[in-house]
Amino acid sequence: MALLFISKNDSPSDWQEALASLEPELEFKIWPDLGKPSEIEVALVWNHPAGALGLLPNLKLIQSLGAGIDHVLTDPRLPKNVPIARLVDTELTRQMVEYVVLAVLNRHRRIDELRRAQLSGDWQVIQPVPIGRSRVGLLGFGHMGQAASNALVNLGFNVTVWTRTPRSAGSLTSYHGSEGFPEVLQTSDILICLLPLTPKTHGLLNAKAFAALPAEAYVINVARGAHLVDEDLLAAIDNGHLSGAWLDVFDEEPLPPDHSFWAHPQIVMTPHLAALTVASSAATQVINNLRLVRTGKPPQNLVNPEIGY
Ligand code: NDP
Repeated sequence: MALLFISKNDSPSDWQEALASLEPELEFKIWPDLGKPSEIEVALVWNHPAGALGLLPNLKLIQSLGAGIDHVLTDPRLPKNVPIARLVDTELTRQMVEYVVLAVLNRHRRIDELRRAQLSGDWQVIQPVPIGRSRVGLLGFGHMGQAASNALVNLGFNVTVWTRTPRSAGSLTSYHGSEGFPEVLQTSDILICLLPLTPKTHGLLNAKAFAALPAEAYVINVARGAHLVDEDLLAAIDNGHLSGAWLDVFDEEPLPPDHSFWAHPQIVMTPHLAALTVASSAATQVINNLRLVRTGKPPQNLVNPEIGY
């Protein structure tokens, strides 16, 4: 039986090697070479062409190559009744924690301002606010959010979280649902978006949300570009209400060369690399899922298409 790999972002040779070490019998096909479509049991995908998965009559599993699943669910011709799984992987989570801590500490210690002062030859000492008075709001308290929150709490930040459903967050203050959204915003000096992209979270980081943040708040988006309304962010920074932003994800990727984010002095940008899938770490989960679906069981980290994550 065969696996079909569809991704322009991930290395097919890394995945072929990692999967073969666990399941040598599994034939590895790379889109658009389908071989015999009826032999393909699992599609391992990142941004597959719409309709591609409908060509596979015996597909048992659609496995995302990343933690997000929006790139699968947006396919209007997605086959019905094939389970969809996303990755939850220790290496992916570790990278995200590292990245979020970097972005938060960058703002907390005002590195951007210090760098600007350096370039002007200005010996400028900026006293950081005591860490416990630096309030971090975390939108999303799933696998990534919980791990990031643990690291930030251990550093001493005052973290508040926001989720869709009521959640116990230990000693942290937590809010949920649309009624809890303004609450988390008003106490977020640093706001981090770690939400899945769904119809409910699309465009959530907009002018109204920014206006509800404290003066000089800082926005970190590591989730998906479409969570953010770009022009609203630029307006809120340029009118002085927000102190800046750190962005890893963009509505259009790569970001068009004429986009205002590129050269904005108060925006740090990275090209969607906060957490990158490592085949040797994530392959075990793919093979375990294949074994589960072969025996009629649901895969791990099954996605609910109704709620979009
Ligand atoms: P999870 O599914 O584990 O967690 C999602 C969290 O978001 C949950 O706490 C959930 O609430 C909350 N949530 C979902 N919808 C809403 C809503 N409408 N209102 C409020 N809260 C909501 O996801 P992960 O933590 O694994 O990943 C989060 C996202 O991070 C991914 O979907 C992906 O987009 C992004 N990501 C980005 C990467 C990058 O390199 N930039 C790499 C990996 C992931 P509840 O607890 O109630 O279910």
